[in-house]
Amino acid sequence: MAYTDAKLLIGGEWRRGDGPGEDIINPATGETLARCGHASPAELDMALAAAEQGFRVWSAKTPVQRQQVMEKAARALEAKIDEAAVNLTKEMGKPVGEAKIELGFAVDLIRWYGEEGKRAYGRLVPSRNPAARQMVTSEPVGPVAAFTAWNFPSTNVIRKIAGAIGAGCSIVIKPSEETPATAVAIAEAFQEAGLPEGVLNVVFGVPDEVSRHLLASPVCKKVSFTGSIPVGKHLQKLAADTLKRCTMELGGHAPVIVFDDADVEKALDAVVGFKFRNAGQVCISPTRFYVQEKSYSRFVEGFTERAEKVKVGNGLDDGVFMGPLIAERRIAVMEQFVNDAKDHGAVVKTGGARMANAGSFWAPTVLADVPDEAMIMREEPFGPLAPITTFKGVDDVLQRANSLPFGLASYVFTSSGKTGKTMSEQLEAGMVGVNNVAVSTVETPFGGVNESGYGSEGGIEGLEAYQRTKFVTEIAL
Ligand code: NAD
Repeated sequence: MAYTDAKLLIGGEWRRGDGPGEDIINPATGETLARCGHASPAELDMALAAAEQGFRVWSAKTPVQRQQVMEKAARALEAKIDEAAVNLTKEMGKPVGEAKIELGFAVDLIRWYGEEGKRAYGRLVPSRNPAARQMVTSEPVGPVAAFTAWNFPSTNVIRKIAGAIGAGCSIVIKPSEETPATAVAIAEAFQEAGLPEGVLNVVFGVPDEVSRHLLASPVCKKVSFTGSIPVGKHLQKLAADTLKRCTMELGGHAPVIVFDDADVEKALDAVVGFKFRNAGQVCISPTRFYVQEKSYSRFVEGFTERAEKVKVGNGLDDGVFMGPLIAERRIAVMEQFVNDAKDHGAVVKTGGARMANAGSFWAPTVLADVPDEAMIMREEPFGPLAPITTFKGVDDVLQRANSLPFGLASYVFTSSGKTGKTMSEQLEAGMVGVNNVAVSTVETPFGGVNESGYGSEGGIEGLEAYQRTKFVTEIAL
């Protein structure tokens, strides 16, 4: 599958886009891959009208009919994973093996939501009036507007599409303009599966213009966003005028807490690869490492050794574990984090600089002795930087772990069941991994608390996000 210009899908029709469009850049080479079309305001109106019509058709289908189309879409996507993964790597940079896994997750998710849509049960509530029957039902909420970030060009997009479609909604989605081909490949799979026109609409454009346009309209009843906290807050304000419900999957700053009673080698095996996966551009990436005093030096040395072995390069090349950052603009951000940490007394154990290749590569970086005041301990770096510090005990580390306004993922390593229980209960986070970092699966809820957002994707919660409740009381005459 050659990398071609990304088109819009509106009302079942692929369009080049009447807006100005923009170049799509390969972050590993700096080369222009193709153009991403932009929707004009008139095309956005067409997408809204299509979603309104698509909703009428799709919500009238039975869950079994919807599941049959979704199963076909899952098969269509499965058949082109290898080709789509190459394009995902070209536009985003992650190693092609990871891109395949990500697309496989999408196939799994489409199937799961197709099936789960069949279980949108309601309930009967015993009535005080013997003549009345009281029913609570779940209905699809209506057309959805969704916006997603570039770091998981497939996962971010499919969580919204499959949840919405599985619940019986239509959707207008604006994936990232930096990684459009993956969203287009997913949309093509749904087209091939015979999804009725207007149920899935894909648009691109200038993000702020698109979201203002879509959210000003009363057509969409729900907004789902994956991206940064400032943009999430902005979209929530836009959604307020028409009182649209929101799901906000925003940034995080995951603490990793390693107690002296943990198996340090096992903890390192679990977290080092996880830190550098996707070059650290993961919202649940382990981000601040708190290691109890006796294990600290061993952890720092082990982390550094492993980081030095991470093979960095073009994600299409064999054996590469870590690709480039998404774009040149992120290099300056990494420099700022590292320089600030050094100014606060941190020691660069390895990395700390961009790499010489063409493209936006940053070396896997380990920073030791990083004080809590350093910017990297408070703001999300979204890159391959691992700041490590020590802690004394449970109270100290809980207070520090919970001191930020974010609460997405947290990780704890301990051999004490009691400590694991205390930490999982007391950490301010939507997801906690105890001796395990696998917090993102198809069938479990994924989402944050506090300024990391609210609402979940994945699991039954991810379907409920696209449903509304109706109460019916009926006296049969
Ligand atoms: P960003 O918010 O600037 O951009 C994310 C996406 O939102 C992009 O596609 C962008 O085009 C779009 N966007 C930007 N402004 C918009 C607007 N006004 N209206 C509509 N869409 C708009 O974030 P970023 O820095 O590029 O991406 C990384 C952030 O996303 C990180 O903070 C990360 O933690 C977060 N993220 C969260 C999750 C999660 O599930 N919680 C998953 C992935 C990424």
